[in-house]
Amino acid sequence: MTDETDGAAEVKWEQRIGQNLIRRLYDSEASGLLDEALLDDVGTRLGMRCEAVLAVSEAMRGRVACPRCARAGTRTIITRTAGDEAEALQCPVCGWATTWGAYHKRCRSQQLNEGGAGYAFRAFLAQWKAAATPAMKMIAVDQLIHEFHVYLMRHRVTGETKNRHARVVAVQLIQGTATEVMGFLEDLSGTAPRSSDLAASAVAWRARAAEAREDPPWEEWSILQPSR
Ligand SMILES: [Zn+2]
Repeated sequence: MTDETDGAAEVKWEQRIGQNLIRRLYDSEASGLLDEALLDDVGTRLGMRCEAVLAVSEAMRGRVACPRCARAGTRTIITRTAGDEAEALQCPVCGWATTWGAYHKRCRSQQLNEGGAGYAFRAFLAQWKAAATPAMKMIAVDQLIHEFHVYLMRHRVTGETKNRHARVVAVQLIQGTATEVMGFLEDLSGTAPRSSDLAASAVAWRARAAEAREDPPWEEWSILQPSR
């Protein structure tokens, strides 16, 4: 390993949250004794995860945030110019250095692909920050994990474009395969919310989910990813 690639070890992402924590949070809400400490922990970690997804997205578009500066509480953006794996990245502020290839490798297989759902991650960050009460924080979490993102799809055979297909955003946030996370959310939605506001939140995402599920089967369609 050269000096240039050493910096890649400093690139660390918040891991996806275990299903058990989300389950405990919803059970506490349903019992009428909302675990506020757990809510803060879950919300903070979801926020860090959202920030990680958005940071990777920015990096793909050519703007890499220096991880060493981030740890020190400052935001320094290193602009990529070439796009090849060998391109050197160096922070003008702290000297952190790696290659784009080494950085990119730290992002792969981490379920950090924004996939066009950036709006949902940004909305959560704003909603969480603005939430003045535990009830509002709980709604922010509920809306985020149940959000269905509608993809633009193209039929593999005919080339026909259809602009609706759904994927649950929580796959980037909660541990498990897409099928497992979907099953977990189905199961979770069987827990009756205690607060009427949370029940109203569920009505809203249920309507979006029902609409999203009317789409054709996955296999025949390929996802049109946003351009990189
Ligand atoms: Zn730096």
